[in-house]
Amino acid sequence: MMKIGVLGLQGAVREHIRSVEASGAEGIIVKKIAQLDEIDGLIIPGGESTTMRRLIDKYDFLEPLKQFGKSGKPIFGTCAGMILLASEINGSYDVHLGLMDMKVERNAFGRQRESFEADLDIKGVAEAFNAVFIRAPYILEVGADTEVLATYNDSIVAAQQGHLLACAFHPELTDDHRMTAHFVKMVEESKKTLAS
Ligand code: GLN
Repeated sequence: MMKIGVLGLQGAVREHIRSVEASGAEGIIVKKIAQLDEIDGLIIPGGESTTMRRLIDKYDFLEPLKQFGKSGKPIFGTCAGMILLASEINGSYDVHLGLMDMKVERNAFGRQRESFEADLDIKGVAEAFNAVFIRAPYILEVGADTEVLATYNDSIVAAQQGHLLACAFHPELTDDHRMTAHFVKMVEESKKTLAS
């Protein structure tokens, strides 16, 4: 069984564990750097990206997380986790992990639309996926190797670059586990490739 970690410093951690387990993998809450060696893939949850970054620094997680991504093990960033993965944040000099070639905009849907739901078609993953957006970012631009998986009103809300997956919404808050299941499949495939 695949072991999928959920970075457990802040945010929607338990909900992701539930979604991972509903997708047939083992979910592990990651609070210590050494746990990164035990897992085959990592989810960085939604929450608040600046708070999460503060905790990442406090517990010296920044370099180990970058190394984890560079080793080829899959990472799935959702909402604040997507901001942490991005190589560029619009209007800011901050870059957190900078692993995924995309430019993101924080709180991009504005105040009137602080939270909302939409049915999305996600390429190769799901049709009519019930996506929950909460003070969500979106992706302004992607690099040549980053594939757009879903848009909402012409804004990019899900993308994949090889072993890196990102979405602006919260795939763990409903009983529709197809996005998490897609990540579990990515982890299974990478495990085969990394072993050979
Ligand atoms: N707006 C938040 C941020 O910038 C993300 C919101 C979320 O993860 N639900 O970190």
